[in-house]
Amino acid sequence: MKNLVILGGGYGGIKVALGLVDKGLPEDINLTIVDRNPYQSLKTEFYTIAAGTVADREVRVDFPKHNQINYVFSEVDKVDLENQQIIFRDLSQIVPYDYLVVALGCEDNYHGIEGAELYTESVQTFANARKTGLAVGNLKAGGKVTIVGAGLSGIEVASEIRESRADLNVRLLDRGGSVLKAFDPRIQGYVADWFNKNDVEVLHHANVEYVEKDGVCNNGVCYVNDVTIWTAGVRPNRVVRELPFKKDNQEKIVVNEFFQVPQQKNVYVIGDCASSVYSPSAQLAGIQGEQTAAVLNSILRNQEPKVPKEIRLKGTLGSLGKNDGFGNMMKQPLVGIVPRLVKTGVLWLNKRH
Ligand SMILES: Cc1cc2nc3c(=O)[nH]c(=O)nc-3n(C[C@H](O)[C@H](O)[C@H](O)COP(=O)(O)OP(=O)(O)OC[C@H]3O[C@@H](n4cnc5c(N)ncnc54)[C@H](O)[C@@H]3O)c2cc1C
Repeated sequence: MKNLVILGGGYGGIKVALGLVDKGLPEDINLTIVDRNPYQSLKTEFYTIAAGTVADREVRVDFPKHNQINYVFSEVDKVDLENQQIIFRDLSQIVPYDYLVVALGCEDNYHGIEGAELYTESVQTFANARKTGLAVGNLKAGGKVTIVGAGLSGIEVASEIRESRADLNVRLLDRGGSVLKAFDPRIQGYVADWFNKNDVEVLHHANVEYVEKDGVCNNGVCYVNDVTIWTAGVRPNRVVRELPFKKDNQEKIVVNEFFQVPQQKNVYVIGDCASSVYSPSAQLAGIQGEQTAAVLNSILRNQEPKVPKEIRLKGTLGSLGKNDGFGNMMKQPLVGIVPRLVKTGVLWLNKRH
């Protein structure tokens, strides 16, 4: 038997597994998915957990049950490349591999800012998003929340908290001159108006110098604060950063057109961990997962894999609370209820394997 191990059952990893079992795995292949959680986490919705507006159950789905998929639910500590095996934090077991897919996603990037890791809440793991939700939920009337970072996740966190807690003071620190700098100016304007109308204070040209237990110091001014939420950048998972492979300037592993590590072609890397011309997204991870499954389906049958097609993304959608949103779809900027409804539809699809 040969062991094919997928590290991470998120947007990318699950698509690999489904693409493999759809075609029927060759009988000599043993497929294992490894994840720290015993359910699939829908990370794109973690802003709702951080704001405490939906139940846990709405943001996770059961992993697919299939007689050809084994699961290991444990925290990966490292990949032992020399002996082709996975080492877990609790050292309870060792999982050997012949083929490995690394799809462990990303974590916060604190850019070396003093106090940021210690004193800010996070939305990058389910456990941390829950902790954030608890901190926000426990705030008394008039409590102060600062969200550092005005990209997609920062906007969604800020608007979701604002909509559900009118009594809180919500502040958003934006590094640029306008929020969502990667988006169309019409969207930027719409989102800026939404924050204005909904009494979210947005500070542009932010430059956080340090974070303290009770506040954030930005451009020489320290703001007293009850909860600070960090959405100011991500980097690949630590396990991935420690792999001795060639990386790009964002610490992501450089792969070939088959998502293989050129020096070690039985190792595949996808999603937020893999270098790409595109920004990290669930959509990108999902497409890469499907393409990796197609490559592996050939390789496991000793056939020459076809070079995957060039990836074309459909667009990005964001929410402003439950009834408003924005997005680029087919290169068209959209704002209001329509992109919000489409986002809900995408979530519905993602919940069904
Ligand atoms: C608040 C927020 C909103 C977002 N909104 C959008 C959006 O609207 N659209 C969009 O396309 N993208 C969005 N994203 C980005 C998107 O969620 C990621 O790009 C996507 O999840 C990446 O997929 P992945 O498969 O690489 O990793 P993930 O989906 O993160 O999967 C990684 C998996 O690995 C597991 N794991 C990690 N480390 C370990 C370990 N050491 N041991 C065991 N298991 C481990 C995790 O539990 C997880 O299941 C958003 C992100 C956030 C935080």
